[in-house]
Amino acid sequence: MFRSERHKRAQRRRAEARKKQRARKLYPDQPYGKLRNHLTVCSCRACGNPRRHFGERTLAELRFLQSMRQQISDLEVRPMRLA
Ligand SMILES: [Zn+2]
Repeated sequence: MFRSERHKRAQRRRAEARKKQRARKLYPDQPYGKLRNHLTVCSCRACGNPRRHFGERTLAELRFLQSMRQQISDLEVRPMRLA
């Protein structure tokens, strides 16, 4: 094992702590753990919820509705074939 590999975990933890500290400093009232990677509180048209900006359903909602429709159609009784 190389020396660099041994220190990777420690380096990652140190970097995370540094990023959290910076986020805490910039946004004392925000959940800093969530903001640590991008340091911004954004809900613009590109980042925000599509329902809010365009009146659309979110991808998770579309997936759920499609799955529900499929399940309902699977449950429907199909006419029996006679002879
Ligand atoms: Zn944005």
